[in-house]
Amino acid sequence: MTSYLFNPPVVQSLAIRGKTERFPINRLFFVGRNYHAHAVEMGKPVDKSVERPFYFTKSPQTLLASGSTVSYPPETQNFHFEMELVVAIGQAGFRVSQERAHELIYGYASGLDMTRRDLQLVARDKGRPWDLGKDVEHSSVCTEIVPMQGKIIDDAAIALEVNGVTQQSSNVNKLIWNIREVIADLSLFYHLQPGDLIYTGTPEGVNAVVPGDKISGRVDGVAEISLNIGQAE
Ligand code: MN
Repeated sequence: MTSYLFNPPVVQSLAIRGKTERFPINRLFFVGRNYHAHAVEMGKPVDKSVERPFYFTKSPQTLLASGSTVSYPPETQNFHFEMELVVAIGQAGFRVSQERAHELIYGYASGLDMTRRDLQLVARDKGRPWDLGKDVEHSSVCTEIVPMQGKIIDDAAIALEVNGVTQQSSNVNKLIWNIREVIADLSLFYHLQPGDLIYTGTPEGVNAVVPGDKISGRVDGVAEISLNIGQAE
């Protein structure tokens, strides 16, 4: 038996609807700028005819269960929500065709890609890595995994409210790169593994929250998500 100097990091996991087993997390992938209206509000429109999707990752240790309260994070004045459909990978795949992409899908979840927007934009505009803006502690909020083996979701309303006021309202049928395209493209760069989550991008309407705010959101047919913003440490 291996002996460690201190307790090794805990494997992050999510509940699975209807099951007692939990879904262990391997990696967290995020698609950038995957709805036209959001790309425009970020000042970076996307031309799919000449561009490919791009990705960033966050540490699995940033995972946080829906329903939690998160401390307002340090070193930001502009902490943003991004409501996203999350794909849960259940089968390994490398260089997967779009036609076979559904075979990798275990299920879906609703997710929040919480972002220190001020730091992300400084990094973006200086050509630096996005980690300080995106790989924020407790910033990868996710609901339980809803099993939908082999199913492609290509039409579902996605919405988010803060304190009951609608801020984001769109449909995943507006994804620039759809679920098949994202899985096929990402699998060119990575050997996708069971336990990988793919946050597929956010629609327009991203905005800042402050301590005391209550976020609620959903992808219709998947799950309701919530997050409370607490005081800064
Ligand atoms: Mn995002």
